[in-house]
Amino acid sequence: MNCFYHPDSPAIGLCKYCQRGLCSECAVIVDDVVACKNRHENEVRQLGQLAARNLFHSKRVSSAYMRNAIFYGLVGVLFAGFGLVQYQYLGLQAVFFMILGLFLLYAAGANYFESRKHK
Ligand SMILES: [Zn+2]
Ligand SMILES: [Zn+2]
Repeated sequence: MNCFYHPDSPAIGLCKYCQRGLCSECAVIVDDVVACKNRHENEVRQLGQLAARNLFHSKRVSSAYMRNAIFYGLVGVLFAGFGLVQYQYLGLQAVFFMILGLFLLYAAGANYFESRKHK
């Protein structure tokens, strides 16, 4: 493949923005990717920033859901376990704890799946 702007020169890379072939005269490196010199430098820089921001945001959201999942899971196991152990002493009250525990476990599962969606 040859340069889009200089058909006689062999291309050394593709512009990340417009995907055209570029020779060493036309290519410029912006944030580790190739761009058309004086044409798409800004566009490629913005593309890179956008991708980096999305990645950062997605990671933060995912870890927040994961934290919730672990928290709900632990408390849920605690409540359900307490209800099971105390059932013979507390009766209906213990059932209430078990239901609360199951509800928290359900919330933990929902948060876990949500965190995987954001990976
Ligand atoms: Zn370009
Ligand atoms: Zn060229």
